[in-house]
Amino acid sequence: MFRHALLLLLIVPALASAGDYCENDVVIIDSRFDGGRLDDCLFVSEDSVVLTFRNEDFSVEDTFAWFAFHISARDSRNVEIKLQFPDSYARFWPKLSKDRLHWEPADESTAERSEIGKSMTLRLPVDETGTWVSAQELLTQSFYRDWLGQLEAHYEIETSVIGESHDGRPLYLASTADKQEAIVLIGRQHPAEVPGALAMREFVDALLGTSDLAREFRARYQLLIIPLINPDGVAAGHARHNAGLADLNRDWGPFTQPETQAVAALLDALDEQGIRPRLMLDFHATKVTDTMIFYTQVPEDDTDPERFATRWLESADDRFEDFEFTHDPREPSGLDNTKNYFFSRYGIPAITYEIGDEIDRELIFDHTHVLAAEMMRTMLEEPTAD
Ligand SMILES: [Zn+2]
Repeated sequence: MFRHALLLLLIVPALASAGDYCENDVVIIDSRFDGGRLDDCLFVSEDSVVLTFRNEDFSVEDTFAWFAFHISARDSRNVEIKLQFPDSYARFWPKLSKDRLHWEPADESTAERSEIGKSMTLRLPVDETGTWVSAQELLTQSFYRDWLGQLEAHYEIETSVIGESHDGRPLYLASTADKQEAIVLIGRQHPAEVPGALAMREFVDALLGTSDLAREFRARYQLLIIPLINPDGVAAGHARHNAGLADLNRDWGPFTQPETQAVAALLDALDEQGIRPRLMLDFHATKVTDTMIFYTQVPEDDTDPERFATRWLESADDRFEDFEFTHDPREPSGLDNTKNYFFSRYGIPAITYEIGDEIDRELIFDHTHVLAAEMMRTMLEEPTAD
């Protein structure tokens, strides 16, 4: 009986998403693509439309909704688009693209949030070729396919499938050869947190670079890279959940979802091989818009390597001239998140690496290689385990 009720709840949102496409005589709006999201669409006049974006499911906490659609017109004209978020609020400043590869935030003069923040109005010149409008850059299957291809081309990297998502998508691991000590990097638990994905790609690039430091680092530490742990959520345009209506970053310990189960099995296999994780970085994004935040263990906590986060982040900070970021050490919160799980299982630094939603992307590119270099330098100062 319970199972039946749950199935009904699962089916209803799917029927309601018939609003994922609409057109009038001149304007066409379409969200039927990987990562697309539009729940309802209502033309108020020929050049004015109201778009509604709902949360991905009834159980999501920390609510905010993703949006992504393509808008085109049969002739060039200005269209007023109201984006409304009845379950949540307008967290993201719209990003625009003509080709789905190059994105710019909407100009300040063309978009405004309503006073209470539940909606946003965008005035956009639209033409036949159209424009992609999205909460953040669309980093979907094709982005990860390309990235995994590039990783695979690196002579030290092998990619493998460690499991399947709720909807049967492969969960990929990119790893270097077995070593006694490993560094674990996890990406995209929360689908909407794209700046974290941009930072992760830069970070991984730095670790795989040709510098003496990177080579020395890879000679000692095995890299275990899981770029996309929530492929279903990304494909469906979710903000936070996987396709099993779960926040994966609250499932480390319970392991009720196939995505976290796959990583748990990987960790068990490492134990059997005598490979020990020494550091875990989990890439996210935060609505604190224009900075980076590192959630770490309280320094007095007995992490091994000892005081790693403070040493790492202070040495990176010394190299930044005009950039402030936040190091926010916290007691274990009792949440079943990756950070608490890796710390409690291994006693290692387990760090949530947060990038501000609206940070200037150039800052990510400029600063990530410094953070990666200082991480490698700090980890290489450690005496070898055993
Ligand atoms: Zn997150």
